[in-house]
Amino acid sequence: MKLADRVSQLKPSATLAVTAKAREIKAQGKDILSLSLGEPDFPTPKHICEAAKKAIDEGFTWYTDVPGIPELRAAAAGYFNSQYNAGAGPEHIVISNGGKHSIYNIFQALLNPGDHVLVPAPYWLSYPAQVELAGAKPVIIAASPEKGFKITPVDLENNVTPKTRILVLNSPSNPTGVCYTKAEADAIAQWAVDRDIIVLSDEIYDRLIFDNAKPVSLCSWWKKHPNRFVIVNGVAKTFAMTGWRVGYSLANEALSKAMSSLQSQATSNVCSIAQKAALAALTGGFADADAMRAAFERRRNLAYEIVSTWPDVICPKPQGAFYIFPDVHRHYTARFPDSTSLCTALLDDVGVALVPGAAFGDDRCIRISFAVSDEILEKALKRIEQVLFRK
Ligand code: PLP
Repeated sequence: MKLADRVSQLKPSATLAVTAKAREIKAQGKDILSLSLGEPDFPTPKHICEAAKKAIDEGFTWYTDVPGIPELRAAAAGYFNSQYNAGAGPEHIVISNGGKHSIYNIFQALLNPGDHVLVPAPYWLSYPAQVELAGAKPVIIAASPEKGFKITPVDLENNVTPKTRILVLNSPSNPTGVCYTKAEADAIAQWAVDRDIIVLSDEIYDRLIFDNAKPVSLCSWWKKHPNRFVIVNGVAKTFAMTGWRVGYSLANEALSKAMSSLQSQATSNVCSIAQKAALAALTGGFADADAMRAAFERRRNLAYEIVSTWPDVICPKPQGAFYIFPDVHRHYTARFPDSTSLCTALLDDVGVALVPGAAFGDDRCIRISFAVSDEILEKALKRIEQVLFRK
C-alpha cells in the first residue's frame, strides 16, 4: 500500500518507542529500570477518580460540545486568571486530547506550507514533527549546555526569516528542566511582538518548579497581545493524569474557533468522563499536586547531587519538570559514538532505559526522567556510571 508523503518521513515518538521496548524486555523477566517516560509515577488523586466514577454513574456518557463542557472551559480560564491574571474567558479555551493535541491543532490552524517555525533545541520531540505535519519547516536553534540550554533574542534574530510565523517556547523545559527567568522570557516576548511573530508558549510543567520559584508564564503577554500569543497547558503532569488525555489552550477567539472546527472534523470532544475528572482536578485545589512537586524536587536534588560529580559532564541544574539532561559526549567510545548507541548499550548491558538526546535535538546528551522512586533513581544512576566510566 502506498502511504502518503506526509507519513513516509514521520518517526513514531522516540520516548514512547523506548518505553515500549523496555516494557517488552521487562515482560521477558529481565531486570529493567525504565527512566524513559515523562509521566508522574503517582496515582491520579482520589477525588479526581471519584469525579469520573460519578460521571459514569450519572450517565454523563454522551457527546459534549466540541471545545469542551462549559464548566471545564470556565475552570481552565479560571486557572489562567487566578494564577496569572490573564483576563481569559471560556471562549478563549479549547479542551483537547492532551496538550499534544492542543499544539497539533494550533500548528494546523496557523501554518501554511513553507512557513517557518523557530524551535529552540533541546526541544520536546513532537514540535518539529508536528510542524512538518502542517507542511511547514522547523528551524532549529541550538542552545548548548554551556549556555544553560537557553536561547536569547540574538539567537532568534540570527534565525528569523520573512517566512517565520511562530516561535515555540517551553519553560520549564522537557528535556532539560531549565526555566527562563521573567526578564529572559520578557525579552523574548518583546522580540516576538516587535517582529510580528506568534509565540506558542507550552506551559505544561508550570506547577512543577523547584526552589520556591514562581512560574513564569506568558499569560500577561497574551492579555496585552491576544493575537500574538497562544498558551498551552494540561492536567497530565500537574495532576498525574497522563492517560486521561486532557489538555487546554488559551488563544484569541478566532484561533480558538478554528481549533474547534479542526477538532470537530478529527476527534470531536475529549472523552466526557475525562472532562469531568479534569474539572475536579482544576477546581479541587493543589494539595496533591504540591505533594508530588515536593517529591520531584527531592529526586531532582538526589539526581543532581550524583550527576554533578560526574567528570567531564556538563549538566545545567534542572529548575522544573522531572528530567535531567547531562551532556555526556566526552565519554562516547568506539562502541557507543552517539547518544542512541549509548542508550542501546545502557539497555543491553545494565537494563536502564533512557531516551537518547538525539531525539530532542542534542546528540551529546541523554535524558534521564526522575519521575521514579528514589530507590530506582539511585540504582539507575549507579548503573549508568558503570557503563559511562568503565574504560
Ligand atoms: N509539552 C511537553 C513539553 C511535554 O513534555 C508533553 C508530554 O510529554 C506535552 C506537551 C503533552 O502532554 P499531554 O499531551 O500528555 O497533555
